[in-house]
Amino acid sequence: MSDQSASPGAAFEPPIEESRPARLRDLSSVSAVLNTAIAATLLDRFGRQAATDAIRDVLNEARQAAQAGAWSAPTAEDLAVGALARLEARARSELRPLFNLTGTVLHTNLGRAVLAEAAIEAAVAAMRDPMALEYDLPSGRRGERDDHVRALLCDLTGAEDATVVNNNAGAVLLALNTLAGGREAIVSRGELIEIGGAFRMPDIMQRAGARLVEVGTTNRTHAKDYRAAVTPETGVILKVHASNYRIQGFTAEVGAAELAAIADEANVPLMHDLGSGTLVDLSRYGLQREPTVHEAVAQGAGIVTFSGDKLLGGPQAGFIVGGKALVAAINRNPMKRALRVDKIRLAAIAATLELYRDPDRLAERLPTLRLLARPQAEIAAQARRLAPRVARAVGAAFTVAPCECRSQIGSGALPLDTLASAGLVIRSGQGARALERLAAALRGLDWPVLGRIADGGLVLDLRCLTNEAAFLSSLSGLDGHAPA
Ligand SMILES: *Cc1c(COP(=O)(O)O)cnc(C)c1O
Repeated sequence: MSDQSASPGAAFEPPIEESRPARLRDLSSVSAVLNTAIAATLLDRFGRQAATDAIRDVLNEARQAAQAGAWSAPTAEDLAVGALARLEARARSELRPLFNLTGTVLHTNLGRAVLAEAAIEAAVAAMRDPMALEYDLPSGRRGERDDHVRALLCDLTGAEDATVVNNNAGAVLLALNTLAGGREAIVSRGELIEIGGAFRMPDIMQRAGARLVEVGTTNRTHAKDYRAAVTPETGVILKVHASNYRIQGFTAEVGAAELAAIADEANVPLMHDLGSGTLVDLSRYGLQREPTVHEAVAQGAGIVTFSGDKLLGGPQAGFIVGGKALVAAINRNPMKRALRVDKIRLAAIAATLELYRDPDRLAERLPTLRLLARPQAEIAAQARRLAPRVARAVGAAFTVAPCECRSQIGSGALPLDTLASAGLVIRSGQGARALERLAAALRGLDWPVLGRIADGGLVLDLRCLTNEAAFLSSLSGLDGHAPA
């Protein structure tokens, strides 16, 4: 490795021109840098090609610095350290794990639900070996991808049939296209929601090829509004669960059961987009009640759609459950193929749904539920325990104190219901800038720590902190670098 003649870097290194400042001649060559002790690590970890490229890059920077006049000649060791740092930074994935102490449990920007161990194991196994994804082992014939979750979904929701696609936005798009492509879809003006990003109900309907027929007003829609809108062109009546907002005050909406009856009279299906959708009565775990998928099915919706990675606590997925004929039509839609889930996710979905068969142990096994149901007293005790250690890690320029705070569920689920929580509030005598620099330093850790700045303090909501040891070890990365 230290043989200079074997270094491609030496051969391609351009000669330093005599006209350049003489001090440039002091700069090490690529091969000299490759001969340092640190370069052995560099070569071992990243290979000759990447190591040589990185050394050239740091040499170029040193040359530019020299020409700009800022010059203190780096040694070959300095250059090797620089190249190593460069490659390590590049190898550090943006997708590495982080501590979500933002107080939003199902944070869409942070990947929503954290999976159950059973789901992780199933996904890993699915990645490692072939599996009977579309193959029926007993008969030795071709099988159906959906069969791995169909029975589970039917059992848990009471629906006749079920299918699964990439996410709930895909489920809505596919179901609308199947049921109302080239026809009309009736929806209340109070339910023309925007979920965030590009997901706006009117746009999705248009892309699904359905003609939007709005009924009622923003705050009040009545049964007669729906009845009056039905024509021979009607393909579906759509009900959308107001996930991320509430209309309060002088309001009226038609309940799903009554709407199902209206749809029945009109001989069109009712499609109910539940958004988050939960498979269990959350009040059982001390949380606010949300309509369950089971209830939506029982209320007579022909099709119910919901997400896999919101309250359900699984991987990203969109579930479509409902009547046999409707689900069969959805499965025949060529768009289904474009929206299907891969084997890794399917394995994780099946393992997650399996946990719901044992509701008594669900809160223990499903991280989403466990975190949402975590009692405030337990989190407060954790905050008291951690406060002195976090104070040491951030240094004397900051104060760290336990505090009470409120967590959000996130992902638009139960938008008005916050959860009593606890955490640490970090303050600085030097004002907002110092706090922002600390927040940035925490984000820059190997295992980044994300909090939220509120009322002049950096709040770390500890509801989602499960791995205390890793948290403290990551914080030790601040040593000496915590900005005052
Ligand atoms: C979240 C949500 C969606 C989109 O679901 P994704 O799984 O994020 O694609 C659609 N409709 C409603 C009502 C939602 O709350």
